[in-house]
Amino acid sequence: MQRIMPYIAFPLVLSGGLVACYLLFTPLENPALAPFVVMIAWTIPWMIWLEWWTPYRNVWSESHQDVMTDVIYLFLIQSLWPRLLTAFWMTALASATIWCSENLQFFSGQSWPHQWPLALQLVLALLLAEFGRYWVHRWAHELSFLWRFHAVHHSVERLYWLNAARFHPLEKILLHIPETLPFILLGANAEVLALYFVTTGIHGLFQHSNIQLKLGPLNYVFAMAELHRFHHSKVIRESNSNYGNNLIVWDLVFGTFYWPKDREVGDIGLLNPEYPKTFLRQCSAPFHKGKLDKPADYATNPEKYQQS
Ligand SMILES: [Zn+2]
Repeated sequence: MQRIMPYIAFPLVLSGGLVACYLLFTPLENPALAPFVVMIAWTIPWMIWLEWWTPYRNVWSESHQDVMTDVIYLFLIQSLWPRLLTAFWMTALASATIWCSENLQFFSGQSWPHQWPLALQLVLALLLAEFGRYWVHRWAHELSFLWRFHAVHHSVERLYWLNAARFHPLEKILLHIPETLPFILLGANAEVLALYFVTTGIHGLFQHSNIQLKLGPLNYVFAMAELHRFHHSKVIRESNSNYGNNLIVWDLVFGTFYWPKDREVGDIGLLNPEYPKTFLRQCSAPFHKGKLDKPADYATNPEKYQQS
């Protein structure tokens, strides 16, 4: 069992989570609640058990005095903050959509292919959201101003499921735009959105998990842990790759896919050993003067940093 689990764990939990989400639409009445139930009652128990049963690195199973910080991020930034953002965002966009449909002839606000099977609608939603997220993520690595905020996510010194939650609140706003704008403008329904958020939630936890995972050819579809660990590498040319959030397709298209199959990632985290470790100090870190942790101009000037 321990030998086959690395191959089946992610497909099993993802497909089970999607089916559970679909079955919960009717009894819960509000589709937006289904992803929360699936994450708490299905996904998180799997993560805790799999990390205990088949860890990728034993040293990553030990606390790095980071658990409390990541729990705060999980509740404030991943649970409460998106609800506040969505309430504001939905109101603003609903008004904008109504204005567009009244004033622009070509704009109907209902261009979403509702007649497609739900699974195909989910694939379309992933492709659309991933395109925007790919570029926001890539710019966060290549532009100094954005890297200040994104460094919070890269400050983790080990990978385990909880640090998927670690994002600066202002970066979370930026990421929220490509994840919601296309759906609202095109008029996708709440069921598709719920399935999208189940996929991104389950994928995000596995992507950062300390679990033995082997996806084989699926590594050319999903931006899963085998690829994402290199994205958290301390070696800059490795971390400026694999920007995909759920899918790796845009990395393949734009030439940032990176998968050295003959070795594992080395140390992960930031180059600056004094980067703050607590929630409040990390939230204020982007506003402090001083040298950036990592040269954000690496992509345009790589030879300068070969020794990094
Ligand atoms: Zn990154």
